[in-house]
Amino acid sequence: MVQEIRSDLFCIEVPLPKNPLKSINSYVIKGRERNLIIDTAMNRPECKDALFLGLKDLGIDLEKTDLFITHLHADHFGLSGDVATDKSKCYMGSEELKFLSGTPDWEYMLNMFVENGFPDNVVRESMSRHPGMLYSPTRKVEMTPVSDGDMIRVGNYELRCIYTPGHTPGHFCLYDEKDQILFSGDHILFDITPNITNWMTREDSLRDYLASLDKVSALPVKLVLPGHRTSSSHHVDRIEALKQHHRDRLEEAITALQEGDMTAYEVAPYITWKIEFKKWDDFPITQKWFAVGETLAHLHYLEHEGTVKQYKKDGLVYYTLN
Ligand SMILES: [Zn+2]
Repeated sequence: MVQEIRSDLFCIEVPLPKNPLKSINSYVIKGRERNLIIDTAMNRPECKDALFLGLKDLGIDLEKTDLFITHLHADHFGLSGDVATDKSKCYMGSEELKFLSGTPDWEYMLNMFVENGFPDNVVRESMSRHPGMLYSPTRKVEMTPVSDGDMIRVGNYELRCIYTPGHTPGHFCLYDEKDQILFSGDHILFDITPNITNWMTREDSLRDYLASLDKVSALPVKLVLPGHRTSSSHHVDRIEALKQHHRDRLEEAITALQEGDMTAYEVAPYITWKIEFKKWDDFPITQKWFAVGETLAHLHYLEHEGTVKQYKKDGLVYYTLN
């Protein structure tokens, strides 16, 4: 489905089959010489068909089109190899590219999850169904790294690259100062809450995320165009709600640890998750992967502020209140 948002600015909503995210917004800006596509979709045939149909509707010549990928997740990056031509520039945050060059180190993540209490067979099964495993790009494209403050000009739009680590280590938003439009990627979403997980290259990704929310909150914004679902003009209210969401979950983690020392896997069922399954045992195992990662991010935050500390026993990492 293609929607015109402003003159020369369009959104192609690409369905993500059997995924709780439902769809991804791929934004297209038309320019006289070059066009820009912001985020693609998962590397799977249904997504490719929908995206290319939208691009055809808009009359986009891919030879004259560049790409901006807000972050490395497969639902944003997956089709970059199919969309980019030899003449395309493909922009992505420099931290993200550093992470991609040596990783994703799935073996490291697997061991890390097992150390944090995830049963070995469950975590292996969960990893095998991870979108990053299944739907990442198959063709590698030469990437152009961007840094905070870099400008990308396309048509009548002047986009400033805003470094917003948290959701991923090198996540970027794009900001058009003239029209006060923020392309927020998965930094700010309105209908769902962005997943904040631990990353091997970052010590405290929740702290990164909260600081990145404050950074964006300070910008004058009239329209936020997020990576998923609906747009909004109320970014400050949403940022406050997201911060409260994480404060509540930090409290829940503390409440769990008041009952005794626990691994992150054991803390996870104490956290309120906004998914349709009420009991932790009923969670699909792919969702358990995201839930334990998110729990770890909260425990690391509490550890850095001195509320909890960790210790190792029988090869497992336990958290205890200070
Ligand atoms: Zn996403």
